[in-house]
Amino acid sequence: MNTAFNLDDYIRKVPDFPNKGVLFYDITSILATPKAFRYCIDSMVDIYTDKTIDAVAAIEARGFLFAAPFADRMQIPLILIRKKGKLPGKTLSKKYQLEYADAEIEIHPDDVPSGKRVLLLDDLIATGGTLKAATELIVQSGASVPEIFGVVGLPFLNYAAVLDPVPIRTLIQYH
Ligand code: IMP
Repeated sequence: MNTAFNLDDYIRKVPDFPNKGVLFYDITSILATPKAFRYCIDSMVDIYTDKTIDAVAAIEARGFLFAAPFADRMQIPLILIRKKGKLPGKTLSKKYQLEYADAEIEIHPDDVPSGKRVLLLDDLIATGGTLKAATELIVQSGASVPEIFGVVGLPFLNYAAVLDPVPIRTLIQYH
């Protein structure tokens, strides 16, 4: 892994998106730069190779983009957590509050390996509300969440308190 690599150089900052006053951290610029995308996946593999992770679960849609190559490199199952109405099989669902609206996510519990350790992953951790609901879906499906991973973390939004006691790891944080 290239330790001198500065991931910040490859994250586009978009002011006033999606609302005025919000600074949006855009990871499409990572995906559009092969060496930056490779750096992320290599870093994730380095971090989790020696940890007992039996599967990875990811949040629609940008979480999928990092979780899929990671799952392939680690040779572990990939579990999709999707917005309501997208998964065709038997589902468990969870409603939660966003800042201005309600949301609902779903999982196929039959895809979750019973009694195993599932790493939960998203591209960016903001308030942690989505990942909190996702953690509950994995636990209800019969597995545990030993850790949550985000490529980017915005800790000033207090996700650590929302996700407590699950430890959180990110590649880069903005304050
Ligand atoms: P949370 O539930 O508030 O943590 O919201 C997390 C979700 O919102 C993640 O799936 C992110 O993809 C998305 N999100 C929130 N803020 C940003 C941002 O600045 N950049 C990219 N995605 C964001």
